[in-house]
Amino acid sequence: MIIDVRSIVLKEKESLKNKVKELNRKGVNPKLAVILANNEESSRIYVSKKRKLCEELGVLEEEYELDETTTTQDVMQIIQKLNADENIHGILVQLPIFKHLDEEKILNSIEPEKDVDGFHPVNLGKLLIGQKAIVSCTPKGIMKIIDSLGETIEGKRAVVVGRSRIVGKPISCLLLNRGATVTVCHSKTKDLKEHTKEADILVVATGKPHLITADMVKKGAIVIDVGINRTKDGIVGDVDTKAVEKIAKYVTPVPGGVGLTTVLSLLENVVEIASHSLDIEDE
Ligand code: NDP
Repeated sequence: MIIDVRSIVLKEKESLKNKVKELNRKGVNPKLAVILANNEESSRIYVSKKRKLCEELGVLEEEYELDETTTTQDVMQIIQKLNADENIHGILVQLPIFKHLDEEKILNSIEPEKDVDGFHPVNLGKLLIGQKAIVSCTPKGIMKIIDSLGETIEGKRAVVVGRSRIVGKPISCLLLNRGATVTVCHSKTKDLKEHTKEADILVVATGKPHLITADMVKKGAIVIDVGINRTKDGIVGDVDTKAVEKIAKYVTPVPGGVGLTTVLSLLENVVEIASHSLDIEDE
């Protein structure tokens, strides 16, 4: 069965809208700052999607669009200003950034408490040791999808294909923290199928169109396809959904799948951070 991610997102949007209204009533106006430092059209599209969702949910947003003359120091100065601004709850640097900029230095200069993307080593470290952390948006969205199915995670065998900092590693940690037995596969894994065949929960984030075929999936598995690949046939995932649908219990579609929950999770992070300012006032 194809998971109806749109319905999950619609429900979550309503609840988030109400949370924003509640915060507004208490004098808190959640606000996101976005830094765009590249000329790529796809990045502009991603930023505009984020802007639209902010508008829809009543979250304030401001953007810093920088050109090729910008230095690492310039970006870090903007971030320092945003770190100190108590009206800003989340800071996001849209990746990729211009090649001459030092990505590591820039991302690490974001205050961990405002790191809505959850990429800061402090947040990744907290996730690793099972402490409360700002969780990166795609893995957070994946957990929401799995939880919405009403299936237990504890005790299940989970296989994650891909070990990136933004998807593979954090989702492996989240599944592990919830009691799954997790195997992480990557490009050096020998006989991928031997592993994927064992998965009750299979998460695929490789950027390889239709890498996962029906013969690689266990009957009744939950399959989460993170991949977004632009091909001559349009956008496809890392999973051969049509064939896998017949074997798996659930599979996410591409497009209209994990990507939808990713943007929503970003806004959830902004709202969660904004709510913390009330906890501080209560102390
Ligand atoms: P990366 O390129 O950073 O990582 C890809 C991972 O896949 C690597 O760990 C790589 O292994 C592994 N891999 C590559 N080829 C194979 C293979 N043949 N067999 C097994 N493992 C393989 O990608 P991202 O994690 O950033 O993104 C993955 C995909 O997810 C992309 O299509 C991206 O567009 C999409 N994406 C979608 C999002 C959404 O919201 N839906 C959000 C973020 C990403 P190794 O480490 O050994 O190189």
